[in-house]
Amino acid sequence: MTKSKTPELSGHLGPLHPAGLLQSIAMGKLTGMLKVDDGPNLIVVHFDFGSLTHARMGKLKGQRAIRSFVLDWTRGLFQFFDGSRVEKLPEDCAIKKPLDKLLLDCFNEATDGNKKTGQVTVRMKVLDDKLAANVANYLKCSFCGKSKDEVKKLVAGPNVYICDACIRNCDELMDEP
Ligand SMILES: [Zn+2]
Repeated sequence: MTKSKTPELSGHLGPLHPAGLLQSIAMGKLTGMLKVDDGPNLIVVHFDFGSLTHARMGKLKGQRAIRSFVLDWTRGLFQFFDGSRVEKLPEDCAIKKPLDKLLLDCFNEATDGNKKTGQVTVRMKVLDDKLAANVANYLKCSFCGKSKDEVKKLVAGPNVYICDACIRNCDELMDEP
């Protein structure tokens, strides 16, 4: 790898969920390379005008790398480098599915796991306001589509977002006999 210049964007996962980070870059229509390092693992993801094109995490390539990133990662340092100065990943790391579809697959997998235990438990975490606002003004509720700025509170799940109004609606549905 050539000596990189200052990344365009950098920060920490934790307050920001991996899915939110990927969505932010996609919505920002960025072109370049995302690197996330949590110590033992390093994932590299390439974007072309907001579309995921390639990904690799150790031996995991393409969609499998994204799946592991979205479902398993909770912390790490991320950096995004502008497209004009990045090396391309090999073709076997290519991603064909759009990000929305990938995230939906991950979400279905996560909720299937919970159904087996008879409970649909969604682990939720409130986004850190400062960091989220930095890169993700355009984060949206996965259920009603309202952006972070249109709702009082947006809560991040393992791979989705839900707003305060939709949480209330869900609660009412659950209370119905
Ligand atoms: Zn909503």
